[in-house]
Amino acid sequence: MPRTHKSLPRLYVDADLAAGATLGLGPEQANYLVNVLRLREGGTAILFNGRDGAWLGRLVHAGKKSAVLAVAEQTAPQTTAIDLWFGFAPLKVGRLDYLVQKATEMGAGAIQPVVTKYTQARTKPAKLRAWTIEAAEQCEVLSLPHLDPEIALEPLLADWRAAHGLRRLVFADEAASSSSPLEQLSWLKGLPVGLIVGPEGGFAEDERELLLAQEFVVPISLGPRILRADTAAVAALALIQATIGDWR
Ligand code: SAH
Repeated sequence: MPRTHKSLPRLYVDADLAAGATLGLGPEQANYLVNVLRLREGGTAILFNGRDGAWLGRLVHAGKKSAVLAVAEQTAPQTTAIDLWFGFAPLKVGRLDYLVQKATEMGAGAIQPVVTKYTQARTKPAKLRAWTIEAAEQCEVLSLPHLDPEIALEPLLADWRAAHGLRRLVFADEAASSSSPLEQLSWLKGLPVGLIVGPEGGFAEDERELLLAQEFVVPISLGPRILRADTAAVAALALIQATIGDWR
């Protein structure tokens, strides 16, 4: 992928981006650009908002608690997020931020916290969004994953067809007999796909049975060892992207 302006800092903004626009930054983002990234007046940064692609922005005013950027030209067109849904049982912070950032880097188009019996944490939407933005700023991701509201496993499965249509749900099943998932995944080529990964404590037996009873669920093994939930998420997302996703 051509990497333009890779040395410039990247900043996510909410505002629309178009040539000639000027953006006023609030205290937090002004502090980040001026004091953390040490951008000086006249300096440039890459701006993105998840809708308009990437744009070159020039710092025209750097104040103590504010900054103004002039938007120059577009440096990359907007990418379309791949239609890959990722459901995860919330983990303790320190692992949850890692998992959400990796899902963003791996190109998940939508992410949703799924509360299961052994889930030990809950999520705050503002924190999830902040973690996706952090990952996007660091990894030149231009489309942020859509955040679906936290949901329990049972209603997620009960409403799956209505909410997801033909999407198949890849279920990382730690109790599956060890095998390579490449064959099951290859059968899903051309279909919308989701992935679900359980909590540190794994899925309860009745949850596994409920998942395996759904005809839209495709159970996969991630090999002979039990992986940590965040490791399993990255491994499964990589397998999906590499076989049927956008790593073509
Ligand atoms: N503590 C549990 C394991 C939980 S691992 C136990 O000892 O059984 C957290 C999640 O990662 C699991 O729910 C599953 O979704 C995924 N996972 C971990 N290892 C896996 C494997 N080898 N195959 C498939 N999924 C796995």
